[in-house]
Amino acid sequence: MRERKITGSAPAANPAAASASPAIADTSEKANDSLRPTRLVDMIGQKAVADRLRVALEACRKRGEPLPHILFDGPPGLGKTTFATVLHQELKVELAMTSGPALDKKGDVMPFLTNAAEGSILFIDEIHRLPKSVEEFIYPVMEDFRVDVVLGEGVAARTLNLPLKRFTIIGATTRSGMLSSPLRDRFHMHEHLEFYDVAELARIVTVNAAKLKTTITHEAAMELAHRSRGTPRLANARLRWVRDYATARSDGVVTETVAREALDMQEIDREGLDRQDRRYLEALIQVFAGGPTGVEALAATLAISQDTLSDEVEPFLLRSHFIIRTPRGRCATPKAYDHLGFRQPKAKPKEFGQETLFGPA
Ligand code: ADP
Repeated sequence: MRERKITGSAPAANPAAASASPAIADTSEKANDSLRPTRLVDMIGQKAVADRLRVALEACRKRGEPLPHILFDGPPGLGKTTFATVLHQELKVELAMTSGPALDKKGDVMPFLTNAAEGSILFIDEIHRLPKSVEEFIYPVMEDFRVDVVLGEGVAARTLNLPLKRFTIIGATTRSGMLSSPLRDRFHMHEHLEFYDVAELARIVTVNAAKLKTTITHEAAMELAHRSRGTPRLANARLRWVRDYATARSDGVVTETVAREALDMQEIDREGLDRQDRRYLEALIQVFAGGPTGVEALAATLAISQDTLSDEVEPFLLRSHFIIRTPRGRCATPKAYDHLGFRQPKAKPKEFGQETLFGPA
């Protein structure tokens, strides 16, 4: 079993590119890796997804075939990369990792395709950002395990079919809606990852505290879980912070009081919203009178990219009913007004259609 983690372009031809990434990014990735589950049984939550993957694993083991191509979608930090690494460990096959934006042209993806061993896995993160020409280039790869190379130009042009080993492409995306249907249809399994509930996150926090050799009480794990926006990556980050706080300000044991103080210090509130979430809601309520407003206007007001708002901020606010999305734009809900301590408007926005949603201020 060998894991090649390569994120630069033309990686196989230039292994140095992989080590040229900034040290700080490398450190956080390693820190994240140390908490990643390695087996499917260790994956917490996402039970239906794990069950289906177990069936696929068993079938491909019995038939001696590669896994089918799998597409994972869902907000960042929910386990898309983790599922891919777990599948590679379960099958004891090679894993190569890259991302849509790193595969700028056909030449960038070629080394991954020609180096892929029989049954191995190629993980493409942010696959919705694959340029169209590269996307079309990998259609025959996904269907027939071959690449079509065009030699020459004009009437003298010839197409050379290059057979490849049979391997698996695992794609991950935060925006499945941006994937073209020909690409989406070439994945045999589509798995959508959901936000985690508090009990699942508390289990993840407890297991990871043990990996970090930190003592944490059940109440503290629940508090962290409540304030982690349903996202394991955030739960891990918050656990590390709370652990540092416990070491610096206390005896190293993470109690409920320690967890609360540490998270308050980071301005993470009782609902798990951070400063960026609250700025978003404040802008929506104060600048846009609660909406409806488009994401472009919000992004410009907050000086945050639209992608960050759509991928990282809005999914949790939508899921926890702080905002709703309507054909005319985003609207703040009564819950958002209450949470931030704003008076609710007397007249309800049309999108709410239900009289009861906006009671008298
Ligand atoms: P994504 O690829 O969706 O952005 P990752 O797979 O990188 O998210 O997950 C971030 C971190 O969250 C991982 O390093 C891992 O520690 C943790 N994690 C994700 N899913 C699970 C899970 N089901 N069980 C336990 N930990 C998880």
